[in-house]
Amino acid sequence: MRTTFFNILLQDHTTKHTIPKPQPMTAKPHINPRKSIGNYWLGKTLGHGSSGCVKLGFHKTTMEKVAIKIISKAYLQTSEILANATKREMAILKLVRHPNVVRYIEAVDDPNVPYVYIIMEYVEGCELFDYLIKCRRINEPEARDIFWQVCVAVDWCHQRNICHRDLKPENILLSASKQKVKLVDFGMASMQLPTSLLRTSCGSPHYACPEIVTGKSYDGRLADVWSCGVILFALLSGRLPFEDNSVRNLLHRIKSGQYVMSTYFSDDARDLISRMLTTDPKKRIKVSGAFML
Ligand code: ADP
Repeated sequence: MRTTFFNILLQDHTTKHTIPKPQPMTAKPHINPRKSIGNYWLGKTLGHGSSGCVKLGFHKTTMEKVAIKIISKAYLQTSEILANATKREMAILKLVRHPNVVRYIEAVDDPNVPYVYIIMEYVEGCELFDYLIKCRRINEPEARDIFWQVCVAVDWCHQRNICHRDLKPENILLSASKQKVKLVDFGMASMQLPTSLLRTSCGSPHYACPEIVTGKSYDGRLADVWSCGVILFALLSGRLPFEDNSVRNLLHRIKSGQYVMSTYFSDDARDLISRMLTTDPKKRIKVSGAFML
């Protein structure tokens, strides 16, 4: 069998699927004792997303760190899309138990409080996006370690009929050691049976596949594979394969699969990227069980 970047991914990582031990707390946490949600004290803001902000939380008795997504109920009432995304994210996160996907803990929805809170495992590190900006580009062995974990998590979800539909470096968190990857933000995710197709257009256009940007029904699994191809390209080069100041031209480039590989990509990386960024979804490479250990 020919050695491909894809095969190397499979060979090199068969023993890496471990869950880290909980780390003891060292520094005194910055908490606001007047602000508490359910069993948690509120800490600093970790990030902002499309549905609200995410804050650090501390369990009142164990002081376990958690991430708390805070979503305004008033905002949920004004936006059906956001209300559905929030319900979907909670329902799907409850189903996903995987070391490379952020763990759902609970939701707090008090009728007297104008916010819904989603309590999740805290990932002490940074977004892959920020890490990539800092490094400008990531060398191939390190990119392979990161990308492998993304593929394992995506494959696991696909095996359970869950498609993420918004895969991008902003939705991939890295542990402080930069060795562990966790997928976040399942607000666009969808359940899809193998025989059905999806219709809703979602995700960032730079990571969207041709069938989505042309408004066709599509297989969410193959749409995720395309986004993974864009992510791998971005990790190795620090740029996106499809970019244009004009959205119209950007969509045209995506539809026609016009991109230029960087000269320093290895043959194996080129091979895998070109198979993921294949415009015809029927000819695109599938993950389908390849990463199940
Ligand atoms: P939204 O669904 O509103 O777009 P995200 O889930 O993308 O929000 O989260 C927004 C940001 O908050 C992330 O990009 C990340 O920086 C931070 N964040 C989200 N979840 C966690 C987590 N579990 N641990 C640490 N930081 C997180």
